[in-house]
Amino acid sequence: MVPFLTLNNGVNVPQLGFGVFQVPPEQTQRVVEDALEVGYRHIDTAAGYGNEAGVGAAIAASGIPREYLFITTKLRNGEQGKAEEAFEASRQALGLDVIDLYLIHWPVPSQGLFVDAWRALEKIYAADRVRAIGVSNFLQDHLDTLLAETTVLPAVNQIELHPTFQQSALSAWCRALGIAVEAYSPLGRGADLNVAAVTALATKHAVTPAQIVLAWHLGAGNVVIPKTQRLHRMHENLAAAELTISRDEMDAITALDSSARIGPDPAKAAFTQM
Ligand code: NAP
Repeated sequence: MVPFLTLNNGVNVPQLGFGVFQVPPEQTQRVVEDALEVGYRHIDTAAGYGNEAGVGAAIAASGIPREYLFITTKLRNGEQGKAEEAFEASRQALGLDVIDLYLIHWPVPSQGLFVDAWRALEKIYAADRVRAIGVSNFLQDHLDTLLAETTVLPAVNQIELHPTFQQSALSAWCRALGIAVEAYSPLGRGADLNVAAVTALATKHAVTPAQIVLAWHLGAGNVVIPKTQRLHRMHENLAAAELTISRDEMDAITALDSSARIGPDPAKAAFTQM
């Protein structure tokens, strides 16, 4: 039901996945078990979310063959200087031999460590402990630095992207380089669901605003990872994979861009706990 996108190294990723940011650790196993039962096969976590063990427990309990699952986790900012150890800790917490996608969570340019961290990810990739490596929250100058100083092209850049904050220049730059664009906070954390153009299309198609927004992401070629802890919304969001909106309707959502960032600015973000 969910289409696959092929990354620049030939690895296939389910285009619609499930994010677990802010899912409390003690609820994560139940939430991810529900998501897998509903049909999600792509889970997005991070060391900084503190819930990798719950994701791993849900995977183990599901009995789903490993090759049908796509699991992403991320390097904590405070561990950019010891990426190989941090990767190993994530792998252990998830209980997996191989991670599908490992990302540098934020560039933290003030630390000056992301190039070293990327070289460590290149080693992990060369050792076949991860199927693809990528970045998150990288702006064009961070990507340009990596391209100039390292060897492996990131497979993915996971960035904040939703109708009211589209980062279209950065997305276009990623696509031109062959880096897949993965949209985080794809629903604008719920805020974009009340926008008139979205609710009007939802009424027209007899679907929900979240389904319109997710159909727009999928039509635009983004990998998308909405988060919900509610079973009915897990079904609702996954069903968006079956909805197609017209070119004019896509354009009506694209016209909503207002550069309204929700999360931190990657040029300045310097926290280490995430
Ligand atoms: P989001 O998916 O845009 O929105 C999640 C919010 O929308 C939650 O409050 C959820 O509430 C609500 N929601 C979900 N489905 C809904 C629906 N069908 N109708 C109405 N409300 C709905 O935001 P996000 O959690 O920030 O982003 C998604 C994922 O992206 C994260 O879980 C994480 O994996 C990733 N992410 C990555 C970064 C990064 O720096 N790389 C940063 C942020 C997020 P309920 O849970 O109550 O349903």
